[in-house]
Amino acid sequence: MSDDRNTNGPPTAPATDAVPAIAHSPCHAGAEELRKAAAAAGNSETLEQYARDYPQGPHDKPQSMCPAFGSLRVGLRMRRTASVLCGSACCVYGLTFTSHFYGARRTVGYVPFNSETLVTGKLFEDIREAVHQLADPELYDAIVVTNLCVPSASGVPLQLLPKQIDGVRIIGIDVPGFGVPTHAEAKDVLAGAMLAYARGEAEQGPVAAPRNGIEERPTVTLVGEIFPADPVTIAMMLEPMGLAAGPVVPTREWRELYAALDCAVVAGLHPFYTASFRQFEAAGRPIVGSAPVGCDGTAEWLQNIGQACGVAQARIDEAKNRMLPAIKGALAGSPIKGRITLSGYEGSELLVARLLVESGADVRYVGTACPKNIWSNADREWLEARGIHVKFRASLEDDCAALEAFKPDLAIGTTPVVQKAKQLAIPGLYFTNLISARPLMGPAGAGSVAQVVNAAIANTARFESMRDFFEGVGTGDRAGIWEDVPTERPEFRAKNRAAKQVKPLSQEPVGC
Ligand code: SF4
Repeated sequence: MSDDRNTNGPPTAPATDAVPAIAHSPCHAGAEELRKAAAAAGNSETLEQYARDYPQGPHDKPQSMCPAFGSLRVGLRMRRTASVLCGSACCVYGLTFTSHFYGARRTVGYVPFNSETLVTGKLFEDIREAVHQLADPELYDAIVVTNLCVPSASGVPLQLLPKQIDGVRIIGIDVPGFGVPTHAEAKDVLAGAMLAYARGEAEQGPVAAPRNGIEERPTVTLVGEIFPADPVTIAMMLEPMGLAAGPVVPTREWRELYAALDCAVVAGLHPFYTASFRQFEAAGRPIVGSAPVGCDGTAEWLQNIGQACGVAQARIDEAKNRMLPAIKGALAGSPIKGRITLSGYEGSELLVARLLVESGADVRYVGTACPKNIWSNADREWLEARGIHVKFRASLEDDCAALEAFKPDLAIGTTPVVQKAKQLAIPGLYFTNLISARPLMGPAGAGSVAQVVNAAIANTARFESMRDFFEGVGTGDRAGIWEDVPTERPEFRAKNRAAKQVKPLSQEPVGC
């Protein structure tokens, strides 16, 4: 049994007596209060790195699901990888429920705590015992332990866990809602930690070869959770340039991490993988932003990838000539007519907007919960050059304001945006379930997105008849069918509002 120390994060001190104030109310304690507690517990270096990787503002707290779902999902999708959460029972309940809702079919480990185990440092010993019990090399390549809000704020020092136990790698990460703004960026927290570990292993000596053998051609590692058919399309695009599609990061297996690092160039298909890009840069790999979507996007992307790999211009042109006419044909064959607003928290919003515009849609607004960074510059500039308003770190209020201002024929967005659109008799599509779960690249992307978008826009008349049908049943807390119309009680509301104003500062919600 190895006693090597885990070096996946900056060193922090054990839990301190800053803990009790926040131990029982993570989602209801102020984000600033939690940050202060984390700093007092010696965790400020991790939070400062997160602040650099995932810049916040204008809004600084999750308006969607708990961010830790992103990293949990990445771990649960990997072969021979165990996931262990440490956090409040309510957080763990919500995260495991959501993971099974999305078909995890995998056990999520849980190390519970109470005020005493948190304050005395016993919690860390419980986590250490849990990973030792779990670390069976017959079953696992890696165990991922995630500190949620309270243990992160308390500085539970996961980096003091053994770096490996009987060959099973131990990866400890902090994913607090007050430090990682979106679940998309939490995927990067885990992917980056795994790449860092794998890079360290590769630097030490020989590592496992890819399951399907070593690719002879130079490879392009694809960063971003993309539709399973997209890597196949990308491989076809790269073939005339003598290049091959490499692994997709986040990977589905530990050994793919080595192959991912051993690429000629990294395609940053989703721009928010800052910590992962840092690992590729440390390995000396160039990074190319944007993705091969639509005609313009594909032409630029092939040019940039080819140049980064030193491919002769004639071969880059050959790749373009092979792919662009087919994409042009697919776009022309599936035109989209209508005004669209689009928003989401997956990080692929700008790419989808480009595809919609090239399909003929009148896109007015693109909101993304992810931050602006250099890897999304090309897509932002392309959209802004067409007069489209692009909002990074967009809030729900921004998305709803765009809906009201632009009065689109279709709103693509998150659940509350779509709900608002439907109330206004505007067809809506959920970005996560209906748009981001489709192919986007190449000719397949053009046809697939147009199909679902056009079907939704064609539903306008149904929404109008539904609005007419339900007209007069009331809105807000007067909605529904009542024997007696509910009586308004403005005096009670005023009293409740006044009571809320004297609430302590620590009542500001953070996550969830
Ligand atoms: S954001 Fe909310 S649900 Fe997620 S770990 Fe923090 S307190 Fe729990």
